[in-house]
Amino acid sequence: MSKRNFAFLALFVALAAFAANPKYVFLFIGDGMSVPQRMLAEEFSKQIGRGPLTLNSFPMNALTRTCSANALITDSAAAATAIACGEKTKNGQLGVTADKSQNLESCALVAHRDGGKKVGIITSVTINHATPAGFYAHQPSRGLLYRIGLDLIASDFEYFGGGGFSGQHDKKDDEQYKGNLYDLAAEAGYTVVRDRESLLALPADTPKALALYREDSLPFAIDADPNQPSLAQFVAKGIEVLSNDAPNGFFIMTEGGAIDYRGHANDAAGNLREVLAFDDAVKVAYDFYLQHPEETLIVTTGDHETGGMTIGFAGAGYGLNLMVLGEQKCTPESFQKKYQKAKEANPALTFDEFKPVFTEFFGFRFDGDEKNVMFVKPNELQDLQQAFDNGKVGQACKLLLQSKAGIGWSSGNHTALPVYTTAIGCGAELFSGIIENTDIAKKMKALVIAE
Ligand SMILES: [Zn+2]
Repeated sequence: MSKRNFAFLALFVALAAFAANPKYVFLFIGDGMSVPQRMLAEEFSKQIGRGPLTLNSFPMNALTRTCSANALITDSAAAATAIACGEKTKNGQLGVTADKSQNLESCALVAHRDGGKKVGIITSVTINHATPAGFYAHQPSRGLLYRIGLDLIASDFEYFGGGGFSGQHDKKDDEQYKGNLYDLAAEAGYTVVRDRESLLALPADTPKALALYREDSLPFAIDADPNQPSLAQFVAKGIEVLSNDAPNGFFIMTEGGAIDYRGHANDAAGNLREVLAFDDAVKVAYDFYLQHPEETLIVTTGDHETGGMTIGFAGAGYGLNLMVLGEQKCTPESFQKKYQKAKEANPALTFDEFKPVFTEFFGFRFDGDEKNVMFVKPNELQDLQQAFDNGKVGQACKLLLQSKAGIGWSSGNHTALPVYTTAIGCGAELFSGIIENTDIAKKMKALVIAE
């Protein structure tokens, strides 16, 4: 090869490498979100006129195996470690090898240290919960929430958004206690904001921010009022802060953590609304991608399936009425609380007097057209009446609505179903075929380093 040809080749390789590595990288993880959760939300979204999910519209996709080092069914800690660090560990462990002898490096750390990128970690649940923690913590147990909080501060990442420290921010009896986590974060240079107004007012030139709305998870999407910050707002603010004065761009991991909680609760209506809220957050990133298509990568995935959700079940035949899930206006748990309050206020409350509340929050009809899918048939009426008498209306309403919709569940826990990974933008072509969850981290680590 002549010197000149070699120079051209070197230039081509340099350009190709430059083109291959995105400046802005988004990784979205739906906790407990596999194909059924994606598709239930997609069908519902289309039927209500919201259209297909953004996260299902990306051109590249990969079926993704989720097993951990010691189990076919992973927990979120082992899954987060795999997706973040590229190595399988045992269930319950975070950012350490299976034998716990060594700490693992996450793609967020690599993006920060080697890529010169600003890093943001966002979740709809608590910030020291397993999935976000997989990107900054190294602990033998996901339960060491205070120490995970210390790891968060030590990460020096620029932006954290979502729920707080799970009530563990001032765990004085921890052997490694150093002080209140919020105070320690402030001492380490973080601007700490704890409410929606301060979050929205956070200036773009804030060097490091800890934006934790409250001590616990964000409210469930189905229960939330518009005055509370949404996952999408945390992502929008993250983009604002992390793209400011960022010559090497950013890496942002966003978790839809409550999808998993609604899966454990076998609550289809709550579950699909969490997926929609998650998709709203993906949409914010997608809008950013449209402004920077050559320099942006978006990857969406799940960490495992939760609940063994099926769209259609024995007894439902081929009939599905997914739209009826829109009748549910709160979680079954908060409906249960409404019932308890009503009972406390009026111990003599009767089933007939409570019927309008069933109708308001679950759409059940007790009179009118018997062919209406929401009409409560005699055997269903008996079940509801019994639940009212036994004080378990939340559970009964959820089950009745889901049997009308045609949604089934086979577990209250995680399952071994693979998840789906989709990608768009610079480097997206790497995400195809049947892959391991660890492959996501390996590809990410290659993509987030500086050229
Ligand atoms: Zn779970």
